[in-house]
Amino acid sequence: MDSHTVLYGVIGDPIRHSRSPVMLNRAFRAAGINGAYAAFHVTPERLGEAIRGIRALGFRGLNVTIPHKIEVMAYVDEIDEGARAIGAVNTIVNDDGKLVGYNTDGIGYVRSLKEEAEPELRGKKIVVVGTGGAARGIVWALAREKPASIALANRTAERAQALAESFSAEAQVSAIAWDALSEACAEADVVINTTSVGMSPDVEAVPVDPSWLRPGAVASDLIYNPLTTAFLRGAAERGCRIHGGLGMFVYQGAYAFEYWTGRPAPTDAMREAVLASFEPQHI
Ligand code: NAP
Repeated sequence: MDSHTVLYGVIGDPIRHSRSPVMLNRAFRAAGINGAYAAFHVTPERLGEAIRGIRALGFRGLNVTIPHKIEVMAYVDEIDEGARAIGAVNTIVNDDGKLVGYNTDGIGYVRSLKEEAEPELRGKKIVVVGTGGAARGIVWALAREKPASIALANRTAERAQALAESFSAEAQVSAIAWDALSEACAEADVVINTTSVGMSPDVEAVPVDPSWLRPGAVASDLIYNPLTTAFLRGAAERGCRIHGGLGMFVYQGAYAFEYWTGRPAPTDAMREAVLASFEPQHI
């Protein structure tokens, strides 16, 4: 670092578990960019001060994580169309003092799904299990790929209904009952777990029975700790193609890197840095 180093960071509460600094610092190094990225613990009552600090210190970019993704929208100058539709910002670009908010979670997920498991989503039948915060961005980004249908199921049915209603103008998005999942999974080309079921430490739990899926279909899980969940293991045994959550994490960061620097993200180096940050037992 020297007096030309351009600064970046991530804010959240909690934040010390974040692998973004390891991943983005590796990206700057691999791309030969004089940038530095750090994690900042910002509590909700200090969010406004933190954003004023970013402006005053001239940070070029910021990632925003739980619990600030919605509230931070009040502090930026402009919100990209996708982030506005999703209702959350996870990336801020500081353009000469003007802060622009984006959401790279959903598009990061879809880029990873297409590069790692299913290059063509047009015309596909997709089932999304869980409709929490992460699902919103994913459903928005999936809808832009023109699939045949997106069926949403959630333990709390009203949340699936609400999400389906917000995107039903853009694609065939509908809510289905939780107990209709086995039938929907049997017909689906892609089944995506966006719930936290199966996440460490409860690693043997599955959100849906993998035997419901059609062999050859894609089973996808947002969870990346563990890297291969019990749902994905079961789906692989059934003959499905599997797609874990690490790629979503890498590509949401890759889009942020590209928005900030205008350069293609060195995704292989980024993935390697995140993998190396895991304890050996998680790999
Ligand atoms: P969230 O807003 O808290 O939503 C949690 C979702 O899981 C809700 O739909 C919830 O249903 C459902 N759920 C929780 N426990 C359940 C259970 N026992 N049975 C059935 N459904 C259950 O969380 P989020 O931010 O969307 O995150 C969801 C998952 O995605 C987490 O595992 C997170 O680690 C992962 N994620 C990964 C990335 C990545 O980069 N790979 C990024 C973001 C999130 P109810 O509505 O009924 O409570």
